Amino acid sequence: MTDIFRGNFTQQEPIPDEAIAAALTVLKHGRLHRYNEVDGEVAESALLELEFAAQMGSRYCLAVASGGYALATALRSVGVKPGDKVLTNAFTLAPVPGAIASVGAVPVFVGVTDGLVIDLEDLASKAGQADVLMLSHMRGHIVDMDALMQLAQAHNLLVIEDCAHTMGAKWGDTRSGRSGVIGCYSCQTYKHVNSGEGGLLICDDDEIMARAIMLSGSYMIYAKHRAGPPPEAFEAVRLVTPNISGRMDNLRAAILRPQLRRLDSQCQAWNDRYHVVDSALGQVAGLTRVQRPQQEKFVASSYQFLLLDWSGDAIRDVVARCLARGVELKWFGAVEPVGFTSRYDSWTYAPSSPMPSSDRVLHSIIDMRLPLMFSLEDCVMVARIIGEEVALAFAASGQNQA
Ligand SMILES: *Cc1c(COP(=O)(O)O)cnc(C)c1O
Repeated sequence: MTDIFRGNFTQQEPIPDEAIAAALTVLKHGRLHRYNEVDGEVAESALLELEFAAQMGSRYCLAVASGGYALATALRSVGVKPGDKVLTNAFTLAPVPGAIASVGAVPVFVGVTDGLVIDLEDLASKAGQADVLMLSHMRGHIVDMDALMQLAQAHNLLVIEDCAHTMGAKWGDTRSGRSGVIGCYSCQTYKHVNSGEGGLLICDDDEIMARAIMLSGSYMIYAKHRAGPPPEAFEAVRLVTPNISGRMDNLRAAILRPQLRRLDSQCQAWNDRYHVVDSALGQVAGLTRVQRPQQEKFVASSYQFLLLDWSGDAIRDVVARCLARGVELKWFGAVEPVGFTSRYDSWTYAPSSPMPSSDRVLHSIIDMRLPLMFSLEDCVMVARIIGEEVALAFAASGQNQA
């Protein structure tokens, strides 16, 4: 009953041997800069872009310094200007509104449903305020992309997808990142591939991609990009696009290429863990699981559940009880951001007005990492501890809603 979990929620898997070997090769020849190639050589960064584009089914790919950098570059390359408004999710992480603010634009927050996806009704009501939607598939929850793209088309909204949590996921048969004009991914340690820091941007459009490559710091060496548009596409943009240096280097690219080759099996391993936790929490009084549509082929590198209409004190109590038994939960509803958590109203550089139905959901979100270092037995234990503590706190709080 009072067993304590000893696993570490922030320990990721080691870098695979094949990736370490590839990194050593780069270190030994010393050509870490992506444009530093010898005759006949194609740099690791260029190969990474070719392979990721092929994997995602996009025409072009650009590797950059971080996921946040990819988002800001996406905004710039579609022409977002200082003072423009950009629609984005109220439920997301700080680098998303941060990317919007970094180009001098203003985030307009769109509400969240109890399915943890963007509220399409709220989006429709705000769509007239902006030309661009930066859609964040936060914590891997994918909105009905058919409905979203229809709405975007009806309102002439250009969609940029933040796929930091959906690399490897799909809506129906469409890969996450392939519905919008640009898809952005993160290769930071806590995402689906790990190079410490890093980002990938995919796109099919010649001019947008030419701009993105120039922005990333290609100088006039852009022809070395194998997964970029033909040289003609650069003629109109190469002298008018600023160099906002943020390139990927060959060391990180070398580490990423082998990891991308095993992406599908990693995604399966995350989902195996998710299903263990999710089914174990099926019958816990007071705990609401997130309903996911059939078309959503998610990658569950984390798990969320809701404590709907619980008081802040009762939620804090659950989080503390679980922590005492080794289970680290994050509460997105905390008034002050803690660690990685944050709420739209804590980004005070961006204006926002309260959204009551979203606030009810945000107040209730509990979030947990599902590291692949956990065995399925670990996940059984973690879920048991959560179930027991939620049930106890629910009974103790005297709340009687189901
Ligand atoms: C991590 C993250 C980013 C940014 O990625 P970095 O590589 O850390 O810059 C963007 N959006 C979301 C939702 C993220 O979690």
